[in-house]
Amino acid sequence: MAGRNIVVIEDEDAIRRGVVDVLSVSGYDPIEAADGLTGLQLARKGPDLVLLDLALPKLDGLGVLRELRKTHPTLPVIILTARGSEDDRVAGLKLGADDYVVKPFSARELLARVQAVLRRSPDRPHPIQSISADGHTVDLARSEVCFSDGGIVVLSEMETDILLYLATNADHVISRDELLARVWGIDDQHLETRAVDMHITRLRNKLNPSGASNVEWIRTVRGKGYMLGSDVRVVQRDVAEGSSS
Ligand code: CA
Repeated sequence: MAGRNIVVIEDEDAIRRGVVDVLSVSGYDPIEAADGLTGLQLARKGPDLVLLDLALPKLDGLGVLRELRKTHPTLPVIILTARGSEDDRVAGLKLGADDYVVKPFSARELLARVQAVLRRSPDRPHPIQSISADGHTVDLARSEVCFSDGGIVVLSEMETDILLYLATNADHVISRDELLARVWGIDDQHLETRAVDMHITRLRNKLNPSGASNVEWIRTVRGKGYMLGSDVRVVQRDVAEGSSS
């Protein structure tokens, strides 16, 4: 089986080479770029994953992400960020990064993030087909929000997985820690729960881009976490093929 393609965009030679070596040894096919423009060109070819440094020559990481999201809204992106640059991290998550790793990181930590993000395949079947409310539908198989006026907004894999998890457990409040463990697939609490809030905020904006809708897709339960809104209907996939109905 061919390794999965990972574009590594990092201008510090030592770090880039280290990351490329770790990925190669682990069976991936890394492709490297030392500046943002070259990295963007490589990322637009549609690899399986992009590892993206933020401080880069020619075009910085946030610029790369902004441009990339115009053509590849669901391509998994993990940000490589310096310790203490929380604003950048938050900006990256707002722009649609799936996850981040703080430098200096260990090979083990990097691989855990890469595996967790790649594990979320958009093709895998799931018993829930869609959720809908007030004439709007979120097609979870296609990762699309279909509005009653005909407009469509594309969700990232992470956003789709969050909605799937909330819809699968529609009668429970889901804590941020549980979302981290079950959606991100990481049990340690390395990723701040703040990242969960960022994704929920972005998701809510996509579900209600004009701000005009009264539908509460995701309810915040203070001090506890999140749950699917009470007016949201969950539509199961029709798996009863061959049985009479
Ligand atoms: Ca850099």
